[in-house]
Amino acid sequence: SASPLKTSVKTTCPYCGVGCGIIATPDGDGGATVTGDAEHPANFGRVCVKGAALGETLGLSRRLLHPAVRGVRASWDRAIGEAARGLEETIRRHGPESVAFYLSGQLLTEDYYVANKLMKGFIGSANVDTNSRLCMASSVAGHKRAFGSDTVPNAYADLDLADLIVLTGSNAAWCHPVLHQRMQDARQRGARIVTIDPRRTATADDSDLHLPIAPGMDSVLFAALLVEISKSAVLAHDYMAAHTSGFEAALQRAREIAPDTETAARRCDIPLPDFRTFIDWWIATPRTITCYSQGVNQSAQGTDKVNAILNCHLATGRIGKTGSGPFSLTGQPNAMGGREVGGLANQLAAHMGFTDAEVDRVGRFWNAPRMAQREGLKAVDMFDAVGSGRIKALWIMCTNPAVSLPDADRVRRALAKLDLLIVSDANAAIDGILENAHVIMPAAAWSEKDGTVTNSERRITRQRPFRAPPGEAKPDWWMTCEVARRMGFGAAFDYAGPHEIFAEHAALSAFENNGTRDFDIGAQAGLDKQAYDAMAPFQWPMPAGAAAGAERLFADGNFFTPDRKARFIAIDAPGLKAAPSRERPLLLNTGRIRDQWHTMARTGLSQRLALHIAEPFVEIHPDDAGRYGVTDGGYASLRSDYGSVILKVVVTEGQKRGMAFAPIHWNDMTSGRARVGALAQGFYDPVSGQPEMKATPVAIEPA
Ligand code: SF4
Repeated sequence: SASPLKTSVKTTCPYCGVGCGIIATPDGDGGATVTGDAEHPANFGRVCVKGAALGETLGLSRRLLHPAVRGVRASWDRAIGEAARGLEETIRRHGPESVAFYLSGQLLTEDYYVANKLMKGFIGSANVDTNSRLCMASSVAGHKRAFGSDTVPNAYADLDLADLIVLTGSNAAWCHPVLHQRMQDARQRGARIVTIDPRRTATADDSDLHLPIAPGMDSVLFAALLVEISKSAVLAHDYMAAHTSGFEAALQRAREIAPDTETAARRCDIPLPDFRTFIDWWIATPRTITCYSQGVNQSAQGTDKVNAILNCHLATGRIGKTGSGPFSLTGQPNAMGGREVGGLANQLAAHMGFTDAEVDRVGRFWNAPRMAQREGLKAVDMFDAVGSGRIKALWIMCTNPAVSLPDADRVRRALAKLDLLIVSDANAAIDGILENAHVIMPAAAWSEKDGTVTNSERRITRQRPFRAPPGEAKPDWWMTCEVARRMGFGAAFDYAGPHEIFAEHAALSAFENNGTRDFDIGAQAGLDKQAYDAMAPFQWPMPAGAAAGAERLFADGNFFTPDRKARFIAIDAPGLKAAPSRERPLLLNTGRIRDQWHTMARTGLSQRLALHIAEPFVEIHPDDAGRYGVTDGGYASLRSDYGSVILKVVVTEGQKRGMAFAPIHWNDMTSGRARVGALAQGFYDPVSGQPEMKATPVAIEPA
């Protein structure tokens, strides 16, 4: 039952990567009112409609309240024992590579940290991946190729100072609403906003220029920009000579991709005058920020798209400077925190990779008996390995891959083959995975959890509880540590609370660092519970001795590559992995809507949020609606090579001809056949492993 506490608590919104600080005031009856925290630097008191409705999502009707083993309610002792015994048995019979964890950008950093530690240091496999693979893996890979580290250079405050804000592959008005308001403030004082998106979104409506780019062509646009920069006076010869390498090769490739502006504009399907205006504004505006999000990341060429953007900022030296730089907007509340602890299969903790020296360093720090020696399986490959029987035991925490991964029907079928499926989640209404779970662990949810998250500008903020978990629900870090203990690793997982996990994470970030890695929060290494509870939001890095975090990075032109120079990347020729055909003539784009979040596990509880858009839909251009015989307000069946759904039709001029758009949120449990993830193909970016979710060939017909 809910705690009777009525004291207001400063915490963080659990939705998007803006990471708004909020104040939750419990009503003493299980509910709470939520307001923006005027002192939090991410939002200064603002919240969007999702954040404002958080108090309406605290009901317990859909909660998992008790552990269960093979469908029968069980004690925690039994559930922990079954999970530990099953993992041990699988490892004994098939080796450590036969087990995997699939985590979530909704977990707190402390949950993430112990899960990674258990798998990578004690089980001895790196098969830990996360739904962040669907969110920002291409940005991570692009940053690492260019900077030698996964570093977001700027802060939100730079948006206040920019004169040109470019949003590419981002519907910030709906997906990062509070940040979008901040951009609109900048526009009020004279900054220009350009939105690059095939759809005319709410963000495009609030822009000075909208470029309705053809799908997959972002790299052509930024290659054309690089070519024009190279001919202009803003080419930063001195900066490039001192701080970068690889410009000539990158420029040569850009010239091949975009030989002239006319050709590039035609390939991008953007009117030439608008294309030229964008290039002229970008070149003429020193204080330019280029924001990019899922339209860039969720692509089979996502990493190249990121590097095409970074190339332009490096060529002009517009990086890490006041009001200018490339800016990755993360989708989830703690995708960044997961990256920091190594929550991706190709990373170790504290932004380290899998070089011998790094494996050795982390192993010594953890006193780990069995360190993973090489990268593990990324999300799509991980579920392929589940399907093929290579992975026999899987622990899914706080996410639903049977709805959100591409080719979701295949994921669902694969889960049924596992010898052991452990599911820890707060929600009892998870479409497609609970029926296959052998062990179910009820997790504490937002409002009950205690830990930290990191937002898009590298700012770490406490998420604080204001209610007790209902039933027998427990924090994710606790259940991971209990399983580790039962597997015989107790000494390394003996934490009195999340503050001790955070303190260890901070100490590891500083361990043998000496400024060689970007992520260093050594200033927090010795913190105790009191200091943790009182922790104010801060940006990393914040090494030992620093009084505050760094607002901006790379201002001095030093990067984290071995020679401290940033790398230009010669990108591959852009093109779609799967083109439209006679049988599948439309390209399906997917995304979020304003008032729902992911698979609606929380937002679906608020009636107010359902008022915005109440049922799953597909948007299509009037010409295509006529061609395929579907009508506004009617229902249509969409079919890809992988699956089919039925959605309500919305006919709109804002949709590009030859494309369709459908939101990701609904599932078969809420709305019949509505899992858009079942349509998407499993193609992924070869560098980042991030799947293509923006251009799946589909057929449409009246339902
Ligand atoms: Fe929450 Fe994002 Fe809205 Fe802020 S902008 S209140 S973090 S959903």
